[in-house]
Amino acid sequence: MKRYGSFRWILLAVGVIAIIGLTGMNVYSLYALHENTLESSRENKKLQITEFTDKIRYRFFKKFIGLGSADINRLQEQYKNTGQFTPEVTKLLNKAAEDSIYSDIYFIPSGSDACQQHDPILRYSSNNKFQPTSNYSAVVCDGMGIARTQIKSLLADYQYNNKVLFHSHRSITIALIDPSEQEVFGYITMPFNQDFLRNSYLPKVLTQKFGAEEHPGMNVWLRDWTNNEIIASSNPNISYDREQIQFAQNFPDFFDYWKVEVSFTDKSTIAASNTSLIRNLIVLGAAMLLLLGALVFMFRSAQKERALAERQTDFLANVTHELKTPLSVMQAAGENLADGRVQDQQRLKNYGNHIFSEAVRLRKMIDKLLDVAKTNAGESLVEPQPTDIGEVVESYLDKHQKFFRNKDVILDINIDENLPAVNIDQNSLETIISNLVDNAIKYSTDEKYLGIRVSNQNDHVKLCIEDHGIGIAKKNISNIFTKFFRVEDSLTAKTKGHGLGLSIVKNLVELNSGSIDVESNPGDGSTFIITFPILSDSDQKDSLNTLPTQPESESRNKELEEHVS
Ligand code: ADP
Repeated sequence: MKRYGSFRWILLAVGVIAIIGLTGMNVYSLYALHENTLESSRENKKLQITEFTDKIRYRFFKKFIGLGSADINRLQEQYKNTGQFTPEVTKLLNKAAEDSIYSDIYFIPSGSDACQQHDPILRYSSNNKFQPTSNYSAVVCDGMGIARTQIKSLLADYQYNNKVLFHSHRSITIALIDPSEQEVFGYITMPFNQDFLRNSYLPKVLTQKFGAEEHPGMNVWLRDWTNNEIIASSNPNISYDREQIQFAQNFPDFFDYWKVEVSFTDKSTIAASNTSLIRNLIVLGAAMLLLLGALVFMFRSAQKERALAERQTDFLANVTHELKTPLSVMQAAGENLADGRVQDQQRLKNYGNHIFSEAVRLRKMIDKLLDVAKTNAGESLVEPQPTDIGEVVESYLDKHQKFFRNKDVILDINIDENLPAVNIDQNSLETIISNLVDNAIKYSTDEKYLGIRVSNQNDHVKLCIEDHGIGIAKKNISNIFTKFFRVEDSLTAKTKGHGLGLSIVKNLVELNSGSIDVESNPGDGSTFIITFPILSDSDQKDSLNTLPTQPESESRNKELEEHVS
């Protein structure tokens, strides 16, 4: 038994550990999922930034698409003869000149020393013609210088394309190549219009693409990191905070000192993910609590069943003993009488008394066992009828007068007048009273006080049976109505019993639609309170002529009373 007990504990511990482990794993995966959701939403946004910068890059040179397939030999020829470009190239140049993104368009023929000597270079002017000018900015020469250096290593690879594009510092330079000769004919250089970019174009595209409404989950700034200057922002209401930046990307190579910087607000994603996380955690928590509850419940009921089985085994051993003892006494006394060994009148009387009191003890015992069997059988044995509880109590007291006198019981009886009738089985009520009174006397100390009160409480009748005995500790109160339960202490050990009386009482009270409660303090005594609902008016009328019948057990008790003393 003990081995199984510890095995059960081990199983419970394994179960609890498994549940805790599973819950932990689930919570961990829920958090991981939450993080992944946020992460993937951010990765997605980073991609959008990359796409955005690529788009701007394309925007810088898209006006020159088509230049690569222009006939370079014809262009050279035309330029040699007229100092101007062919119509197809001029058309492209016109389109570029109209675009505010470029501040000017210059052409520097290949052999020119323009930037070194500060000689004039050609500027594309409003009459769609190139005209010499000495008024050009350093940006033009920077771009051209970079292009000239880079083309030296690239030229050998250009056999079919007549154009190379250079993203040089704050300008774009296009080298026009004659692939058949593998030589550069000249450079078209266009500085960017920074005023237009900073004040008009970039703020507009940033708010259009990443403004608060379009992109609630992020704020984007374009920052010149060399001057720590914010050039444009997707949401001008939100001020730049370096600490908040979670992602940065270089702006297209024309402006390598510009950076696109992003802070993720992710409010909607976080909120959605948080809500789902919380919902999942609640469901998980509830499921785990349910599982734990079920486990503990199963464990507790297994324990209870075990305790009941143990009590039943004890009970069987006790009952066997209790039944055998009076029988042995009766057998021995009967044998002596039958042998005729007892002649003296007084001794004869004593023998008779012995046999009778042992028979009564035996009968009480058997009655109790039968009561248990009856209450186990349930409602069918209960025959409710309108009953005046006060009358039943008085009749009970009347029958047991002698018993109380002999036991020196101090009776304190208080029964309300004109009690309404309740619908209960009278035999049940007798058994209830008799068990509670028995206990009140059994568990009393030297003072054998017995208080019985019957009162009318509006919609029910209340029966209280009070003693000033040993009382019941709080921790035992919930168990005393359990079958075979006896309080385990030295005071209870002095009395005989099997822990059946109160379970019978409770069963009978409930079978008769009543309720039972107990108030008790160790050393102060106990009060058992029973209530039964009163009959409705119509039921009362029906019951006027129905007086309580003689309880079945009356003759039995009369007989008992005459002899027990
Ligand atoms: P039994 O009296 O045969 O042991 P019961 O079912 O009548 O069985 O009572 C169960 C237990 O409740 C008793 O063993 C006793 O410990 C406790 N008990 C019952 N009535 C009283 C009482 N009036 N005062 C103190 N303890 C009581």
